Amino acid sequence: MIKINENYLELQDSYLFSTVAKKVKAFQEKNPNAKVIKLGIGDVTRPLVPEVIKAMHKAVDEMGEPETFKGYGLEQGYEFLREKISEYDYKKRGIDISIDEIFVSDGAKCDCGNIGDILGINNIVAITDPVYPVYLDTNVMAGRSGKFNKEKGHYENIVYLEAKAENNFEPDLPSKVPDMIYLCFPNNPTGTTLTKAQLKKWVDYAKENKSLILYDSAYEAFITEDDVPHSIYEIEGAKEVAIEFRSFSKTAGFTGVRCAYLIVPKELKGYTINGKEVALNGLWNRRHGTKFNGVSYIVQRGAEAIYSEEGQKQIKENINYYLQNAKIIKNGLEEAGYTCYGGVNAPYVWLKVPDGILSWDFFDRLLEKCNVVGTPGVGFGPCGEGYFRLTGFGTKENTEEAIKRIKEKMSNL
Ligand code: PLP
Repeated sequence: MIKINENYLELQDSYLFSTVAKKVKAFQEKNPNAKVIKLGIGDVTRPLVPEVIKAMHKAVDEMGEPETFKGYGLEQGYEFLREKISEYDYKKRGIDISIDEIFVSDGAKCDCGNIGDILGINNIVAITDPVYPVYLDTNVMAGRSGKFNKEKGHYENIVYLEAKAENNFEPDLPSKVPDMIYLCFPNNPTGTTLTKAQLKKWVDYAKENKSLILYDSAYEAFITEDDVPHSIYEIEGAKEVAIEFRSFSKTAGFTGVRCAYLIVPKELKGYTINGKEVALNGLWNRRHGTKFNGVSYIVQRGAEAIYSEEGQKQIKENINYYLQNAKIIKNGLEEAGYTCYGGVNAPYVWLKVPDGILSWDFFDRLLEKCNVVGTPGVGFGPCGEGYFRLTGFGTKENTEEAIKRIKEKMSNL
C-alpha cells in the first residue's frame, strides 16, 4: 500500500490568486465594457533586454556546431557566470564570495524549498508575517510546522515574526529561539527594508544562538537608498550564519527564462544531534549535484550578459521603469489620503486600508468603483490583514490611469 507524505494534508489552501482571478472574471462578465487595470501582478512585464537576447542567440548558434555544442554542464553553474556573480554582485561591494560558494539554479523559489533537504526536520522555523508564502508551505511539506490552528491562523511550531506599521515593519527578535530564520528584504509583499544596523541585530542574534538565517534578496536590484544592504554579507560575521538567495527573475526579467543562485559560504556550519560541526557548503554541493543537472548553457549565457556595461545599463532602465511606477502609485495614493509603505527600494507598495475595512472588502470596492485590481494583504499572512499590495509591474499608462481613478473615486480624505 502506498503511503503518502501526510504533511501535505496540513497545507492550507491558498485561495489568494485564484480568488482574485475568479472575482475579476465575474466582474468582467457583468461589466463587459469596464477597462480593468491589474496592479496586482507580481511578474515582470517588460521584455528581455537586447544584450541578453544577443547573448542567447549566440549561444543557440554555438549549440548547432559540433565544435561548440554543450551537453551536461557543471551542476553548480558555468564558471563564466559564477565568476561574474562573484565579481559584480559581491567583490564590488567589498564582499569576498568565491565561485565554489555560488550555486546557479533554475529559480529562487526552488532554492527556497530545496534548501530544507539539508536541514534537520526538528529545527524550529521562524518566518516573517506577512511574507512570500513559499517559506512556510515548504516547511509544512517537510513536517516542521506542526498542526494548523484555525483560530489563530498559525501553525503550532512556527515562530511568526510580526511586521506591521506599529513596529515599522521591523520584526522583534523572537523570545523562542528558532534554528532557521527566513528573512526577505526588500520584502515581498510590504516593499520595506532593513538598514544595515537593523540587519546586524539579526546576524548577531543568529551567531549567539547558532541559528541559520535564510536571506532572500530577490529584489535587491530595486534598492535605491544607501543604507540598505544589498547582501546580508555586507554585515560582519554573516558568512558564519547565513545562506543568501538571489534571482535574475526580477533583476533582469528572467521569470520565464529561469535562472537564480544560492550562496552557501564555506565557513557556515550546521550541527549533528551530537553537536558535531558540519559545513553546509559540502552538504548543499552534494544535494545540488545529486538532484539537479544544471541550468541550460543558453540561459546562463543570457544571465552573464547582464553584467556587461551595456547589459547593466539596459536592465537598470527596466528596473527604473518599475520603480517609477511604484513612485506614481505611492505618491498618488498619499495625495489621495492613504498611508503607504515600500515602493522606494522595491516594486511593491503596501497600502494601509482605511480603518475598519478588511483587505478583501477593499479589494471589492477598488474593483467595483475604480475597476482596479490589487492583492489583499491578508493573503500573505495574518498580519497582512488591513493592508493591500499594489505593484509597479504594470505599464506606466495603466498605472497613471489607475491612480487617477482612485483619486477621483476613492480618496480617503
Ligand atoms: N523570492 C521572492 C521574495 C519572490 O517574491 C519570488 C517571486 O515572486 C521569488 C523568490 C521567486 O524567484 P524565482 O523566479 O527565481 O523562482
